[in-house]
Amino acid sequence: MRSASLVSSKTSLAFHSWTIDTGPLVESNVEIWREIRDSLAKGKVESAAAALRQHLEYVSRFLADQLGASVVFHADGNYELGELLPNVIGRLKELYGKAADAAQSWGNIELRDAAARSKEALSRASGAQNVEQWAVNKAVHYNEWANFGKKDFGPVVDSFAELLACVSCDVCGSWLHVSFSKGTAEALRCDCSAVNFNLKPKSK
Ligand SMILES: [Zn+2]
Repeated sequence: MRSASLVSSKTSLAFHSWTIDTGPLVESNVEIWREIRDSLAKGKVESAAAALRQHLEYVSRFLADQLGASVVFHADGNYELGELLPNVIGRLKELYGKAADAAQSWGNIELRDAAARSKEALSRASGAQNVEQWAVNKAVHYNEWANFGKKDFGPVVDSFAELLACVSCDVCGSWLHVSFSKGTAEALRCDCSAVNFNLKPKSK
């Protein structure tokens, strides 16, 4: 829907869950974080964990598409978070690297440094212990979240909030995407262009 510009970034909605009875339940990104933190404040770790897991699965799937991450195709459309999120992070790091190289080739040092800083922030957030443990390490199943205490689960929520802040725009809130021209990746950007990294190096 978003790529067809039918809805704006601020109003774009996540299909939060789907059942035969209710159809898709839609909530915005902001509402989902509020719901997760509210549940946690009430000590309902199980609800917070379920909401966080669904949100991460939705966002990872969406970003894999928007950023062109390499993910092994499944005909049944079922993807585990552990196979999506690490590829999304890897792809975004690669894009920031390409953006830094392109800026360097054009002599735009400011933009080169901005791309390098974004890559560093992403590396820090994705290297956070909670993210590594729960999303990247496939051996650990995050069903165990439900057994966490409130105090233990708070830092997990914070780590993922920080990670998702690295893949969205501070200004407009939209998720980052790659724009193409004639089949070539041209820019890494958000909807308002506050994030707008050229990916095309100067031809030699
Ligand atoms: Zn923006």
